Amino acid sequence: MTTRDQAIDYLQLIDGELLPARNGEWIDSVNPASGQVWARIPAGTADDIDDAVRAAQGALGPWRSLPAAARADALRAWAATVRDNLDTLWRLDATDNGRARREAEPAIAGAAAQIDFHAGLAETITGDTVLVSETATTYSIREPYGVVGLIIPWNAPLAMFLAKVSAAIAGGNTIVVKPPERASVSVLAAAQLLDKAGIPHGVVNVVTGDGATAGEALVKHPDVRKISFTGSTATGRRITENSVCNVKALALELGGKSPNIVFADADLDLAADTVAAGIYTASAGQACIAGSRILIQREVFDEFVERLRARASAMILGDPLESGTDMGPLAFHGQYQKVREYLQSGREDGATVAFGGRCGSALFPAESPFAAGYFVEPTLFVTDDPHLRVCREEIFGPVAVALPFEDEDEAVRLANDSGYGLAAGVWTQNLTRGHRLTRRLEAGTVWVNTYRRLHWALPFGGQKESGNGISNGPGTLDEWLEHKSVWIEHG
Ligand code: NAD
Repeated sequence: MTTRDQAIDYLQLIDGELLPARNGEWIDSVNPASGQVWARIPAGTADDIDDAVRAAQGALGPWRSLPAAARADALRAWAATVRDNLDTLWRLDATDNGRARREAEPAIAGAAAQIDFHAGLAETITGDTVLVSETATTYSIREPYGVVGLIIPWNAPLAMFLAKVSAAIAGGNTIVVKPPERASVSVLAAAQLLDKAGIPHGVVNVVTGDGATAGEALVKHPDVRKISFTGSTATGRRITENSVCNVKALALELGGKSPNIVFADADLDLAADTVAAGIYTASAGQACIAGSRILIQREVFDEFVERLRARASAMILGDPLESGTDMGPLAFHGQYQKVREYLQSGREDGATVAFGGRCGSALFPAESPFAAGYFVEPTLFVTDDPHLRVCREEIFGPVAVALPFEDEDEAVRLANDSGYGLAAGVWTQNLTRGHRLTRRLEAGTVWVNTYRRLHWALPFGGQKESGNGISNGPGTLDEWLEHKSVWIEHG
């Protein structure tokens, strides 16, 4: 790391070396709370990706040949160094993308625990013995793909990097990571800890840069066997098109527009706390599983909206590094602009603003350092029309829409009327109905009387256009392993 004009320069990691981009170009990292440039990352291109893939190829043989216990030991050492550096890492993450400390710190601590979980799984990679003939021994084994690529978004870059990379290398793969150009700093800092943990050079490589250059080069690289992508559905489609060159395996974890369904018989206080947290304090709505469509049974609609208003008005917006802050800013200027456009679109399409709707300098006194930051206050649109853009498109900000429903069938119809299928919440004291809805809702995760609870031991993935990747759970290494069948004829 070097300092130039107050911005700190962070470097890529290729074959254990910290390097600028081959072309010498840089991308500014802006602190979204203040609007000021605070760091720079290399603007890597296809040349850097090629170097990184070669490094990963070089490291593959020795790494996959290590006894699983040795890979597990290296992962545990990595988890320990992440814990030792937790304070530095969450601060970098929160400074870079504005995620409030109350979210950023536990997410990274959780990811360190997940590395340990993956270390355990490394020692349990099994195959099946399937005896299909009297004259042969037949079985299957699971093997690493080889060199794999990981592309991640900016809303939780470091936690995702730690979780995904540890699963990939636990399975014996080596990896090239392309972090998000809007928030790569914490990933670059964490990559420097790999050496301290004794993970051999070239096993994990990190190349920063734009999606259209570094990202596409990784997806099109003929020696990369699989891409795991987390990001928007639009980019997921583009990656699918670009991966056909060598029929690459793909795992896609994409966007969402998740319904949170509140029945009249719910514990409305608990529901209001959790529904509000599920869209507002959830990284200011920049969470794939944000509960952005709030479906409320008509008889309690007005009352529940009032409860949400009370929660939202008590939320503290401000410095992401302060532990008392509920909501930081949006992660970068482009996202801030996009959310403001949705605020306008909702109004123009006839939705009513039940509360919120103010942004930026309207929220802080002119002398505040945050007056130039990308802040949006918790906002709720109310409408009867599920066809509005704000009801259908992923906004990825602290903007929810509330729609009324009459009965369970209408709630299910509205909830499932979306191209997305990532998550859903149900609030009811009738657990028979709760169980029934877990089957009827088209979503990779359904919560009943809670929301946004994830655990590394429970599978997580999307249905429909929310993707096909599965992370977490006892089978999480499956995403990184291929099957091979063996038939030994012995007569
Ligand atoms: P994005 O799709 O714009 O970018 C994600 C990553 O893809 C970035 O690293 C970017 O550089 C890269 N990229 C962009 N174009 C590319 C291309 N043509 N080829 C290769 N790489 C390319 O997404 P974003 O705006 O960074 O993140 C927000 C999205 O991520 C939301 O839709 C959110 O729902 C989704 N998300 C999903 C999950 C999940 O688990 N399902 C988790 C977090 C975020």
